[in-house]
Amino acid sequence: MGEPGGPTDCSLGAHLMANILLVDDRPENLLALEGILESLEQNLLYAHSGEDALRELLLHDVAVILLDVQMPGLDGFETASLIKQRERTRHIPIIFVTAISKDEEHVFRGYSAGAVDYVFKPFNPEILRSKVAVFIELHEKSQQLRRQAEQLKERELAEIRRESEERYRFLAEAQPDQIWTALPNGELDYVNQRVLDYFETPFADMVADGWTVVVHPHDLPRTRQSWQRSLDTGTAFENEVRLRRASDGSYRWHLTRALPMRDRRGEIVKWFGSHTDIDDQKRAEEAQRFLVQAGAALAGSLDYRSTLAAIAKMAVPRIADWSRVDVLEDGKLRTLAVEHVNPSKVELALELARRYPEDREAAQGPPHVVRTGESELVTEISEERLAELAVDDLHLAIVRELGLHSYMCVPLVARERVLGVISFVSAESGRRYGPDDLALAEELARRAGTAIENAQLYREVEERAQAARVLDTVGDGVFLVDGEGMVRVWNRAAEALTGLTRADVVGCPAEQVLPGWDHLAARVPVAGVPGPASAEAMPLELDGGERWIAISGVAFDEGTVYAFRDTTEDRALEQIRQDLVATVSHELRTPLAAIYGSALTLGRGDLELDEALHSKLLEVIVEESSRLADIVNDLLLASQLDAGRLHVHIERCDARALAQLVVEAALTHLPEGVSLELENGTDEVPPVAADEGQLRQVLGNLIDNAIKYSPDGGGIQIRLEPAGDHVRFRVADQGLGVPAAEESRIFEKFYRLDPHMTRGIGGTGLGLYISRELVRRVKGRIWVEPNDGRGSVFYVEIPASEPAKDRPGPDTW
Ligand code: ADP
Repeated sequence: MGEPGGPTDCSLGAHLMANILLVDDRPENLLALEGILESLEQNLLYAHSGEDALRELLLHDVAVILLDVQMPGLDGFETASLIKQRERTRHIPIIFVTAISKDEEHVFRGYSAGAVDYVFKPFNPEILRSKVAVFIELHEKSQQLRRQAEQLKERELAEIRRESEERYRFLAEAQPDQIWTALPNGELDYVNQRVLDYFETPFADMVADGWTVVVHPHDLPRTRQSWQRSLDTGTAFENEVRLRRASDGSYRWHLTRALPMRDRRGEIVKWFGSHTDIDDQKRAEEAQRFLVQAGAALAGSLDYRSTLAAIAKMAVPRIADWSRVDVLEDGKLRTLAVEHVNPSKVELALELARRYPEDREAAQGPPHVVRTGESELVTEISEERLAELAVDDLHLAIVRELGLHSYMCVPLVARERVLGVISFVSAESGRRYGPDDLALAEELARRAGTAIENAQLYREVEERAQAARVLDTVGDGVFLVDGEGMVRVWNRAAEALTGLTRADVVGCPAEQVLPGWDHLAARVPVAGVPGPASAEAMPLELDGGERWIAISGVAFDEGTVYAFRDTTEDRALEQIRQDLVATVSHELRTPLAAIYGSALTLGRGDLELDEALHSKLLEVIVEESSRLADIVNDLLLASQLDAGRLHVHIERCDARALAQLVVEAALTHLPEGVSLELENGTDEVPPVAADEGQLRQVLGNLIDNAIKYSPDGGGIQIRLEPAGDHVRFRVADQGLGVPAAEESRIFEKFYRLDPHMTRGIGGTGLGLYISRELVRRVKGRIWVEPNDGRGSVFYVEIPASEPAKDRPGPDTW
């Protein structure tokens, strides 16, 4: 044969002994068979029964079986038939060994049970040996064939494997991604050309150094941890990581994935991995996210300085390793904020800005951007360029220390005016800015500009709103008439003073909505900004009648602001004051003239005065002096009341006794034609809580007035009656009466009815004012009503005092 691996191959012969199964119930027969077959140098297996034989066949691969026919239990035929039924053993040749019968039927039965031969005892050892040898050889041949087939299959498989490996490598090479494979322990065993090109490292170095050298230091711990977890657990690996591109030293984002390939037993045989460059996509996403966040920060801030500082902070480290914001103030660039990934370098950057302020005429950097309003992008700052721009060695050293690689400067524009510059610099990250980055920076600056504009507008609106709020709280009416003569502002006081609402006037021509404005406008004194004009008093015809206003205006770019106040009351008061001076001087002059005349007459030596005239003149002097004293007292009392200096001593007073006293005093100087009566009344009146002296003065005032304003005579009734928890005093006269419209005004200070109405009866206009103030101070009230038929009725209500038992005793009053 001579084939390598064949059964005659000496080196393999020893291993290829075939098994021969000898089955006989009799040991001497087995011994005999062994003696015959020994020389074949094969492995002999022995079975003493059919069952034994079947067991042996389960354990061994057998080349040929020598089977005794006559056996207790399973005989040879039955055993053979069972062997033939089994798939694994059906092809094993069986040689029946028998001594019993040579008749045809028996032999036939043997063959039909699957025998390949039949030998009869006693048998010729030679023949038996050669027969067995034939089957051994046959077995070996078929074994050999099987081995060859297996070898062929293995070779084919290896070829297929090699081909498939080549195919996947080819596939891997054709991929745009970086593809690699690693051993189960994670050690690289293949990378495609893209990997080699990207990292510019030979494969051997890559295996030796490992992949960690190309991973961004920030991403390394996370990546290492997750890769180890995959190696330990055999789970798929997926990670986003920045890998350093050798061509420019920049780190670019990659999506790294690896899957384990397992053999049939589930053991990992290899890791298949890839790196997909997702840098552009990642940066676009990051940029979007950044813009959204920046937008939110910008929208929320109204202070543009803090906004810009916040933007500088936000940009680091996402789009820059350091960022700087310079704003233009008084024509100069001032650094507002500096942010650096490494806070210790912020100082260095500030130091640089301090020591080497940029030349306003510089042909690059922030000054240039401010001048031109154009952005600047420098993808690569070369060493030569640095040296060229450096002012001196220290400057160069600081700049080098900052490790600048790439930068971009964008102008900050608001309301079409360049406000400043935002600069983004890449250093440690090794990042190189490109047009996409510049677009992002410009977008950011645009949004910041809009935010600043909004903040400015907001501030203006807020200032206006503030001004409007202030305007609404001032007591003066304020309105604005624009250059077109339209009313633009109309404050709350203006509404209150004129009764014209904002809706009535704002947006309408002043001449149409402000009564008499066409005549008045020209008379209103208007000053230029900022001096105020002195106000002019003028009448304004309104629905409620004529009102007097004092008005002035201030002109400015957008029109004229007018301020006015209602002086109607002031004018009336002024009028009253003037009247008072006239009245009081008149009132003083009359008694003074009488005193003067009387005194002069008394002093004349040429006149003989009889006794009666003498005492009459003295009486006049006394009476008129007392009148003068009354007037002066009233004036003093009124001023004390105004100043809040009058002391009130509240005590229990017997109202009727008090009224009685006042009436009695009045009866002493009652003019002719006037009668005065204190009605007895049926109701019991309780004591009142009042200052007795002051209450007496109030009642005296009312009774004096009733007498004084009854020039044609008439009856005066005084009545006391209980009114709830008050006591009411009623003074009714049949005199001149008080017109309904004046009923409340007569209680004002110095207010007197028209002299024609009072037939020139003198007075100061203080009596009722004093009465009202005194009554108020004991929590009472005073008012007037017309009397039935003629005259008026004055009422005074004073709180009743506490019940007597709470007091020291009734005998105290
Ligand atoms: P006087 O009497 O000194 O003027 P009063 O304050 O006492 O000041 O009164 C204010 C005004 O009220 C008087 O000027 C008068 O016109 C009117 N008046 C007061 N009492 C009466 C009355 N009994 N009948 C009519 N008019 C009165």
